[in-house]
Amino acid sequence: MQALLRKYAVKLAATGLCAPGDALLAALDDELAWSHTGDVRQPLMQEVFAGLNISALLLARPSGVYQAVMAELARQALADGSASITPGDCETRTFLHDLPVVDGLGEDGLSAEGVIQALRQRKGCVVLHEGVAHVAAFGTVSPEQAFVTMSSMCFACFVAYFAEHLRRARLGTLTPTLTPERRKAFARITALLPPDRGETDGLPELASGPFETEDAARQAMIQAGRHTVEYGLVDSYFGNISYRLPIHGNDTILISQTGSSLDELGPCIDPCRLDGSSCSGLTASSEYSAHKAVYEAETAGAEMAGAGARAILHGHPRFSVILSLDCERLDCPRLGECHRACDTPRVVADEACGLSVPIVPGEVGTGPFGLCNTLPPALTATTGGKRGAIVYGHGLFTLGAVDFRDAFATLMDVEHFCRAEYFRRVAGLGAG
Ligand SMILES: [Zn+2]
Repeated sequence: MQALLRKYAVKLAATGLCAPGDALLAALDDELAWSHTGDVRQPLMQEVFAGLNISALLLARPSGVYQAVMAELARQALADGSASITPGDCETRTFLHDLPVVDGLGEDGLSAEGVIQALRQRKGCVVLHEGVAHVAAFGTVSPEQAFVTMSSMCFACFVAYFAEHLRRARLGTLTPTLTPERRKAFARITALLPPDRGETDGLPELASGPFETEDAARQAMIQAGRHTVEYGLVDSYFGNISYRLPIHGNDTILISQTGSSLDELGPCIDPCRLDGSSCSGLTASSEYSAHKAVYEAETAGAEMAGAGARAILHGHPRFSVILSLDCERLDCPRLGECHRACDTPRVVADEACGLSVPIVPGEVGTGPFGLCNTLPPALTATTGGKRGAIVYGHGLFTLGAVDFRDAFATLMDVEHFCRAEYFRRVAGLGAG
């Protein structure tokens, strides 16, 4: 158990969410097992454990830009009396709801009681103690749940903070919404952003297709998935990936399983037959229906164009998600319904590098506003070497002609462009 707890502590640091050695995890084995010992937070963790019916608990201080955005949002949430952070992205809507904020400035520092109360309501909470944001998160069956909640909270706060700043800048054209304090915080937080990997790093070496065997395709998926997490284009556990493999006319889609970690796909890839004759439909990604519909639309289109896409890569790149939340229509009657019913054609476009990526609404699942209805027509309508579509407040889907090289490059290009475009818009509104 201790090895597993250490694994997640190391993984949180490796993905830049907290400093090495900071995350403290505990899990109930025969007795309480710890990721490390000799930590002053252990008595507090024990108290929280005793107050909840859980099997694993995580306490960590996010670092760098994640610490800065979380502390800033927590400070605002306590100041305005809401004591909760409400991000608008899909990952949070479906996975976390809002994030309770606990004022940790008790007489004896961090108070277990506040954390227990908050964790009775939600999977994780933010504790603001002496200006520093701490994350507390639990698992009912495994420490992985606590790890996923923590990384999801960091993602949610990052997106929420930058999206809110741009929203306020737009509203500011009507009423002043950016106080000098908020402007100062924005400059401080922006300076903490890690370098744009689209600028500093080249593309990773990825296997070249077309892949004719299931094994070759699986290896390529495992490799592309690992790099997608490693390049920060999705958090482990989220995102998905698939490849269409024609075997003697019986088209098969290989797709990552629901709840699998994109950087540890290994055996977590399911074969699903396109004709529906056999499919591990129960474990396949929750976005399987969307992938399937894209391949079907691509196959239909290929008869005219000559080649349909064989690969789909889906990540949650932060600035692509943030930019999808930005809208100039401040008086739109569909405000609040954007993620399912936006009917304004929107696009992220950069003529200079041939980028034109539509932003579409779409809920996870197969309902009338489901991704499987909104995404395929948007993706299939794209042309050229950089094919992708952003789903509002959710993430980016990209296509690969025969392998994941172009799908990965598009994922990076779009995120690189969206990051630069975000700061152009902020500066253009005088809020930089
Ligand atoms: Zn997703």
